[in-house]
Amino acid sequence: MDHFQIIDGELHAERVPLSRIAAEIGTPVYVYSRATLERHARVFNEALSALPKKHVAFAIKANPNLAVLRVMQREGFGADVVSGGELARALAAGMPGQDIVFSGVGKLEREMVQGLDAGIGQFNIESEEEGIELAAVAAARGQRAACALRVNPDVDARTHEKISTGKAENKFGVPIDRAAGIYARLAGLPGLDMRGVAVHIGSQLQHLQPLEDAFIKLGALIAELRAGGQTVTHADLGGGLGVTYKAGEVYPTPAEYGAMVARICGSWDVTLMFEPGRVIVGNAGVLLTRAIRVKRSSNNTPFVIVDAAMNDLARPAMYGAWHDFEAVKPTGQRMTAHIVGPICETGDTFAMDREIDALVAGDLAVFRTAGAYGATMASSYNSRGFVAEVMVDGDQFAVVADRILPEAITSAERVPAWLD
Ligand SMILES: *Cc1c(COP(=O)(O)O)cnc(C)c1O
Repeated sequence: MDHFQIIDGELHAERVPLSRIAAEIGTPVYVYSRATLERHARVFNEALSALPKKHVAFAIKANPNLAVLRVMQREGFGADVVSGGELARALAAGMPGQDIVFSGVGKLEREMVQGLDAGIGQFNIESEEEGIELAAVAAARGQRAACALRVNPDVDARTHEKISTGKAENKFGVPIDRAAGIYARLAGLPGLDMRGVAVHIGSQLQHLQPLEDAFIKLGALIAELRAGGQTVTHADLGGGLGVTYKAGEVYPTPAEYGAMVARICGSWDVTLMFEPGRVIVGNAGVLLTRAIRVKRSSNNTPFVIVDAAMNDLARPAMYGAWHDFEAVKPTGQRMTAHIVGPICETGDTFAMDREIDALVAGDLAVFRTAGAYGATMASSYNSRGFVAEVMVDGDQFAVVADRILPEAITSAERVPAWLD
């Protein structure tokens, strides 16, 4: 459920007509709904209400905007971060260090130091080599880093290959059959406090079964570790729940997920940790765009050329992803069209042969479900700058990220004297 609805013939974000945002801020622009963000956070929390000890860390990479993070912080969420930049954002949004989990295969020494300085709650270690390095960094500072070992359970998440993370050939985690030995060796290092295990098998998952398979393997590992005398007080189950991009598709609900987790993991006697990203923010945002012109093609299907492009919303070009596309003021007329951006790449295509609301040049439209992995994946390709972001709250809205103009990007560039 979201708060982007037609009211009096026009698509609104909560009670704000999208044409008002376009008029005041320009297009393309990402628009987020505070009420939708809050609703999704609460639904997720409710789904876990049967679990006695839990911690929810919003996966910042899905949408790192500071205002979005502040909403999450107010809902009691911590953060799952994968870089020093994300760690700084979580802290800037007011999230306590203790509520922050640091994941990622390539943590730098300075990022480890940054995490230790911030007193973060947990490092998710992705290799024995990384654990040894972190131990040395922490010990040199007289600290012990609280850690979980991320394991690769070798399950097929049945999602897009580029966002599958739990197969043996993926770079994430340590092979689960070697995890007990690695855990024991790391637990012997003075700089580490090995307290748990972690798993995250992929994103945009449409089925609970792969998650259940991974959790069963994780439960067996916990038992094995304890039998070997290790302490395990935390189990991080990652994120991954999919959302509906195409009207009619069915995804597991947070409640179904929560029930499965309670069934499989409820007796582990650990604090269960969660790292949801997409399921919280995906449907809470749209990318508002304007049709620049409608161009005839050689085979009668017109190209609707919009002012948003693959640099603003990369998912269609990167993953072949579908985003529903709707006119802001639908007339009831329909057309079949290709939806493309202005960038000089054939990959800058949002949809081919799509039946959409009829549009003419100047009309506004939205790509739905753009709140996750949208603005955060933007680039400035074709020197287009970075798109603005707006958050709506009831009948008010605010710019939560300024548009970054091409000139601002050029101003960071230098021509060396020896080229003069
Ligand atoms: C990306 C990521 C998540 C969030 O994934 P979603 O599919 O957005 O829920 C959680 N944990 C880790 C380690 C990740 O890399």
